[in-house]
Formats: sequence, C-alpha cells, structure tokens
Amino acid sequence: MRLCPRKSAILASGLLVLLTCAFVLRYAYDQKQLRAKRHNSGVNVCRANLRVIESAKALWATEHKKAANDVPKEAEIIATNYMHEIVRCPDGGKYDLRAVAERPRCSFHDVHP
Ligand SMILES: [Zn+2]
Repeated sequence: MRLCPRKSAILASGLLVLLTCAFVLRYAYDQKQLRAKRHNSGVNVCRANLRVIESAKALWATEHKKAANDVPKEAEIIATNYMHEIVRCPDGGKYDLRAVAERPRCSFHDVHP
C-alpha cells in the first residue's frame, strides 16, 4: 500500500508531534525526580543537624545542671565546645533550639531528629 505524498506528510508531522510530546513529558518527569531527590537530601541533612543540636543541648544541660525548661543560646553551645560550629539548614530553615526537654525544630522542614 502506498500513501499519497500529502497523507505521508500528515503522518510524518503527526509522528513528529507525538515524539515531541513524549520528549517533553520525559523531560518534565526527570525534572520532577531531580527536585524530589534534592528535597530528600536536604531533609536528611537537616535531620542530622537537628540530632547534633539535640546532643549538644543534652551535654550542655547535664554539665550546667539545667532544668527541663531552660533554653540554651547558640553561643552557649558553641562557646563550650559542644558543637564546633553552628549547623545550618541546607534549605534556609531557621533552627529553634527550644527547651532542654523539647526537640529542636527547623522552620522549613518541620522534622524531628
Ligand atoms: Zn531544615
């Protein structure tokens, strides 16, 4: 079966449109996967940072005989070498150290250690 040149052109352009749509959809899917990986990476780093803060806070509270409702300042934890440097959320969240009895929190991720 032979197609006339006009039908062949229509078929070819239809195929081209389909291939273009497939490419665009694949690209969008890849970008979404990449964003999800980056987000998960940020959450994991943030969660690890919160664990470091929680440990430093526990040491500070023990050594200075602090009560459960005492809240350390960043400088107190760093100055006393419980942490070598203050950790920062990779996605720009702010850490709230909170009271000794409470877990520190991130304003961006809202995760717990
Ligand atoms: Zn965070």
